[in-house]
Amino acid sequence: MTLQELRKRPHWSYSSLNSLLNICSLQWYFQKIAKLTPAHVSVNLVNGSCYHRTLDQIYLARKLEMPFSAEEAMDLYTDDWRRSSKEESIKYGKLDVQEVEEQGRGLIKIAYENIDPTEKILQVGEVFCVPVIHQGEFLTKPLIGEFDLVVEKEGKPLVIDWKTSATRWAKTKADKSLQATAYSYAYQQKHGLKPKVRFDVAVKNKTPVFERYPASRDPDSWNLLGTLASKAEEIVKHDLYYPSLESFACSDCPFKGACEEYCKGGVKAEAA
Ligand code: SF4
Repeated sequence: MTLQELRKRPHWSYSSLNSLLNICSLQWYFQKIAKLTPAHVSVNLVNGSCYHRTLDQIYLARKLEMPFSAEEAMDLYTDDWRRSSKEESIKYGKLDVQEVEEQGRGLIKIAYENIDPTEKILQVGEVFCVPVIHQGEFLTKPLIGEFDLVVEKEGKPLVIDWKTSATRWAKTKADKSLQATAYSYAYQQKHGLKPKVRFDVAVKNKTPVFERYPASRDPDSWNLLGTLASKAEEIVKHDLYYPSLESFACSDCPFKGACEEYCKGGVKAEAA
């Protein structure tokens, strides 16, 4: 099944858990339960999708041993960005549409130049749907998602997630990442092997930088995933949503109007 087909059933994903538990539960409510139409789409989201789709093609070509140059990859990205930027109602930050394109081409170039030829490609875009276990019992919703890339490195599986970032990551970020926990758990559930996880991050500096952040997880850490998913289910069951007004997400929140209404008078979130 494709990711789109799997997403039709009730499920958890890493990004949904992260959004509900770590970013803002009210924003999650507006998006997932109230299903409000967002006022805009973040430029980072649209551009990040173009970056991912281009890397998909770079690595698929490598897997199939087909020629695909850096120049061709940058042109593919450019076409995708120009098309996507016309289709979406994008909220721009400091960079305009042309500057975002130039930056994106630079990120593709640096990602291409940093391909490690010693890594054997096993899968590009591997979908997963695995049960979530808490205190020995299955939760009702599975964990669904997609590994960007799976390679074999030094005889062992390595799950790679591609990121773009405005800044370099803090040294501890990968070690604390719930995504690394979720992905190592999901891979083990699907294949019966404990993988390593790595974040390959293209940093949007004036001269782009490419950095790799490895993370490994022990089976003990997987318990946390079950605990957090069960807490998320309690939040949904009891309607425990509230605004996180100091969240970094507020500045780019597409539900700011609904949030202001909600904060004014304790109106029901549905009314907002
Ligand atoms: S504006 Fe901030 S607090 Fe309000 S819903 Fe959006 S992210 Fe949450």
